[in-house]
Amino acid sequence: MERLYKPARVVELQNKYGFRFTKSLGQNFLIDGNIVRNIADLAQINKEDYVLEIGPGIGTLSEEIALRCKKLVSIEIDESLKELLKESLPYDNVKVIFKDIMKLDLKQLVEEEFQNKAIKIVANLPYYITTPIVSKLIESGIEIESMTFMIQKEVAKRFSAKPSTKDYGSLSVFIQFYSNVSYEFSVSKNSFIPKPNVDSAVVKLEMKEEIPEIDTEKFFKIVKAAFSKRRKTILNALSTYGFNLEKTSILKALNLSNIDPRRRGETLTIDEFAVLTINFPSLGGDKD
Ligand code: SAM
Repeated sequence: MERLYKPARVVELQNKYGFRFTKSLGQNFLIDGNIVRNIADLAQINKEDYVLEIGPGIGTLSEEIALRCKKLVSIEIDESLKELLKESLPYDNVKVIFKDIMKLDLKQLVEEEFQNKAIKIVANLPYYITTPIVSKLIESGIEIESMTFMIQKEVAKRFSAKPSTKDYGSLSVFIQFYSNVSYEFSVSKNSFIPKPNVDSAVVKLEMKEEIPEIDTEKFFKIVKAAFSKRRKTILNALSTYGFNLEKTSILKALNLSNIDPRRRGETLTIDEFAVLTINFPSLGGDKD
């Protein structure tokens, strides 16, 4: 049987099941065997692995993972793919669950399907909902070994951006607070059917074993405030944000944290934001 990344096979399945792409669900399916293999290689999928995939589509990436892993569970929102996927993924170690990933109880899923084992997550994500999905996975509290994602190139750059670059922002800090991110490779629009409007890239996120023991809610509020006025100094950005704090108390916190108040927020590293969070006054009275 032809592999699912062959355009002829996609068209054959599409015609057989009368499948129509839904643009609003971010349905751009891979038709490039090298990219499919490179993603599975990068995720280092082997016979011991339990893998979660989001959005199998017609099963192109799922097939490659299924052939390498112990068990794959793929979550797909589009029920019109049900019959098609039964034919395209005839593997005993694959289960497709038709559900919106955003409405899924991940802890329950990992308990029921993977007996609470650490999992690897692999996906060519629907671009309209990339950040909410990745945030949900990170914040779910499930044990994740690694996440390998195909995402929009612009978002991949923001995920992996370093301080003092134009792509560095609160999203970079959020992702890198919890994981070590690497921007792996860019992917041409020609690798998909239908062709997307934007370029793509593959990133790998390895969850950090230890994260700073700080008040994360306060940390992310400070980060948001620091990036709210990128062209201002960190002192001005924080004191005009609406925290309802005296400028002198913010200055004191910056000094205590060894951060020059004339620097811009976008130059601060995650460690510096963490130290600042510890020294920062309580945010009980902020407007957020
Ligand atoms: N993995 C396939 C591939 O690489 O060819 C398809 C990837 S396509 C970019 C994204 C897939 O995610 C589509 O099949 C789409 O229906 C599915 N999807 C979109 N929103 C979803 C959601 N909220 N929950 C689960 N799946 C979703």
